[in-house]
Amino acid sequence: MVKICGIGAGYVGGPTMAVIALKCPSIEVAVVDISESRISAWNSNKLPIYEPGLEEVVNQCRGKNLLFSTDVEKHVHEADIIFVSVNTPTKVKGLGAGKAADLTYWESAARMIAHVSNSDKIVIEKSTVPVRTAEAIGKILTHNTKTKGINYQILSNPEFLSEGTAIQDLLNPDRVLIGGNQDPQGLDAIQKLKAIYTHWVPQDRIITTNLWSAELSKLADNAFLAQRISSINAMSALCEATGAEVSQVSLALSKNTKIGPKFLNASVGFGGSCFQKDILNLVYICESNGLTEVANYWREVIKVNEYQKSRFVHRVVTSMFNTVSGKKIAILGFAFKKDTSDTRKTPAIDVCKGLLGDDACLSIYDPRVTQNQIEKDLSISCSGVKHVNVVGDAYEAIRDAHGVCILTEWDEFKTIDYERVYENMVKPAFVFDGRNMLDVDKLRKIGFIVYSIGKPLDQ
Ligand code: NAD
Repeated sequence: MVKICGIGAGYVGGPTMAVIALKCPSIEVAVVDISESRISAWNSNKLPIYEPGLEEVVNQCRGKNLLFSTDVEKHVHEADIIFVSVNTPTKVKGLGAGKAADLTYWESAARMIAHVSNSDKIVIEKSTVPVRTAEAIGKILTHNTKTKGINYQILSNPEFLSEGTAIQDLLNPDRVLIGGNQDPQGLDAIQKLKAIYTHWVPQDRIITTNLWSAELSKLADNAFLAQRISSINAMSALCEATGAEVSQVSLALSKNTKIGPKFLNASVGFGGSCFQKDILNLVYICESNGLTEVANYWREVIKVNEYQKSRFVHRVVTSMFNTVSGKKIAILGFAFKKDTSDTRKTPAIDVCKGLLGDDACLSIYDPRVTQNQIEKDLSISCSGVKHVNVVGDAYEAIRDAHGVCILTEWDEFKTIDYERVYENMVKPAFVFDGRNMLDVDKLRKIGFIVYSIGKPLDQ
């Protein structure tokens, strides 16, 4: 029986390994992590992350061919194939700080693999890593192969799931990318990994490349997606200045088959743990290769995103007569997108901090993000600060507020009874739709002053 070990039980490692276990009942899958709290949550009824459908998949496999453990060394030692999905955040100190990927977690995982292994292993890069990381990992893994006689094959198999649709994306991926050495041993390792995916992924969706193409493709993928968001957000600013409507521009663009309809929704900005860090990483790699102009090109994608968030705050403050000091503002949504509890790099953090900077009183509601998480992200203790209140439902957040900011596109915000909430708000009552999800005309008929990104302003 093939044994798989997944190192890192986070947003990628947990769901990815669970789906492999579901689709390959003949394979034993152990997911390991150094975080005891994460592993005990994976072993409980309250999983550490929220993803639609995840609980069902875990419940079907846990205790059969899927287990979660902190005994990292034991499961790595026993495994034939090791998927490494540890975090690769942006470096905060030293060379490349603020741009380069911090590979500390990867390095320590690789050292541990080298230390405990005494049989051949296929080591798979699931994490997003800089191009040519496999070369560095190879040095760590093989430094004592002579004494141990072990063959390591490193493959790049980047993950393309999106949070909020992770299970759907894993069950029905548009592609699986496998990069490996093009020598006989490398090709054999590629075939072994391909054999796993073939349990449920059609052959023509499995792409094989050399290692560097696979590593770079993941960075390129995130950079292209983020660039699309920044492009439409840049257009939204121009729409507001000219009287065009960004949703109409998006519709026109979407019908161009060369462009297509996805990622054309103007918003308060992109968030999540990946886009910014991966573009910064790309910028760093370009700079390291002397490609300053190319680095500058990608850096603009992040700059537009920062501008979009500050533009939103500016709009809220100027609309509310140039000050929000002492005014209650309801913040609806804190996660970086709907259907996830993840708040990493969520635009809500910058927007809330911007409004707090002008002394607003925030009443925050998100259906999936805990009070603790929001407090941590805003670096405050809500009990001690009267300016922030995290509440349990949208109506409570909005009661007696001067304005409402929609910062995450949760479906439930569409079905709020806006006529009812209008009655209980301070007048004039404002809605700032940072996700372009509400019916502006309907809200204006009720009496709200409405700002929706990229749309003409209320007269
Ligand atoms: P995460 O922080 O949720 O999970 C990483 C886990 O690795 C943590 O639980 C951490 O405790 C564990 N870990 C770190 N070092 C370890 C070690 N030496 N041994 C065992 N466990 C260790 O991160 P994530 O969001 O799952 O992302 C992981 C990687 O996947 C990153 O490189 C990211 O860029 C990439 N990625 C993320 C997404 C996404 O949507 N989150 C999508 C595609 C790719």
